[in-house]
Amino acid sequence: MKKRGVLVIVSGFSGAGKGTVMKGLMEKYDDYALSISATTRAPREGEINGVHYFYKTVEEFEKMIEQNELIEYAQYVGNYYGTPREYVETQLDAGKNVILEIELQGAMKVKELIKDVVLIFITPPSAAELKARLVGRGTEDMDTINARLSRAVEESVFMDKYDYLLINDKLDVCIDELHGIIQSERSKADRNVETINIIREDLKVFSERG
Ligand code: 5GP
Repeated sequence: MKKRGVLVIVSGFSGAGKGTVMKGLMEKYDDYALSISATTRAPREGEINGVHYFYKTVEEFEKMIEQNELIEYAQYVGNYYGTPREYVETQLDAGKNVILEIELQGAMKVKELIKDVVLIFITPPSAAELKARLVGRGTEDMDTINARLSRAVEESVFMDKYDYLLINDKLDVCIDELHGIIQSERSKADRNVETINIIREDLKVFSERG
């Protein structure tokens, strides 16, 4: 039987570089699946439907909520964002570690629902660096950037509700630290009850002989 993967939530301030870290993780290791969220936000330049997000109208999104197709959803700076359930379950069953890159309200909802989820918070090394990254991205106007920065102030209150804090200073280091955390989680004894039982069963031949 295939071992079920670990469900991981990665949150962090807008501009923390989560997207780049996720992309690097997927390219470097093949034991991950990245959940694709549904959103009512308009696609940014270069974003593709079904790759970055599933872009929905408000009516379509609310229908997904009604039909219980989302594990969680939240509103963020005026738009809906949510995690479709089916893909996550299929990938976990196939043994992949599934990453949800979601904001904090959604993270807290999943934490309540699924006890063994691993919560990781990514932050840039400083507030100045956060602003520089958001401005440098050039995809949002100054009003949106300011809204995202004040949202970061609110979110920082909840950083200690996460299991791990990851500082995204050097990209390669951050990717390897993230992989290390997830590998360690996967090795935890309480995630390996079945393997432990198999080994115990196997060992019985020795006690019968003795
Ligand atoms: P962005 O508009 O920059 O792509 O995303 C805005 C925020 O929404 C980010 O913090 C991102 O992690 C979060 N987000 C993306 N997908 C989901 C989701 O499915 N659920 C929740 N709760 N947040 C999400």
